[in-house]
Amino acid sequence: MGFRELREFMVSTQLVPRGIKDERVLNAMRKVPRHLFVDESIQNKAYDDMALPISEGQTISQPYMVAIMTELLELKGNEKVLEIGTGSGYQAAILAELSKEVYTIERVDVLAQNAEERFLSLGYTNIHVKVGDGTLGWPEEAPFDRIMITAATPKIPDVLMEQLSEEGIIIAPVGDRFSQQLLKCTKSSGKYSDEYHTPCIFVPLIGKYGWQQEDI
Ligand code: SAH
Repeated sequence: MGFRELREFMVSTQLVPRGIKDERVLNAMRKVPRHLFVDESIQNKAYDDMALPISEGQTISQPYMVAIMTELLELKGNEKVLEIGTGSGYQAAILAELSKEVYTIERVDVLAQNAEERFLSLGYTNIHVKVGDGTLGWPEEAPFDRIMITAATPKIPDVLMEQLSEEGIIIAPVGDRFSQQLLKCTKSSGKYSDEYHTPCIFVPLIGKYGWQQEDI
């Protein structure tokens, strides 16, 4: 099977049967070349039903996790989105297919650089990358219509809540170091409502309002 067929197979065996319904999300997953976001030596595993190592001890999430987190953001196409934890850049590329502008923050310099090169070579001009502590958000660009944290956090940092638009949605894996649950928090008329979704395991969010390096 070529990569295009592998993507189609991934969508029909991993995403649709588990309940991903948003056609725009399914189409983005059919389109974005996930194999170009991992090391050449593991490209043949890029469409398997699992998370994969990138460098610096970090991981690219399982396709289903990327799909469900994206679906929960309810993107229509005109949103300004903030992602914390650029990693390989794959999730940011999916978001860029479905929204207007994506701002993504990565604490590890070399990961941010590699992701930026991928965005350039794939022609994504609506993704903006910053190296730094994402737990502080990106105040110069706030507010954001949607925020996605792609690293495990003990709670959603208040600063990020403050950078969310009225009628905004934020999604994050919230829990302890070794097990979390996806939390979707919706802001509406100044009130917040929380919904818990699937259990998950992410690498830790390390920063001022996440875990401290020495706790890891
Ligand atoms: N979304 C990525 C996967 C994220 S893995 C993808 O599609 O490939 C989690 C990433 O969050 C790692 O790259 C890690 O370095 C980064 N990270 C952890 N704490 C962070 C922080 N405080 N700010 C920004 N990035 C952080």
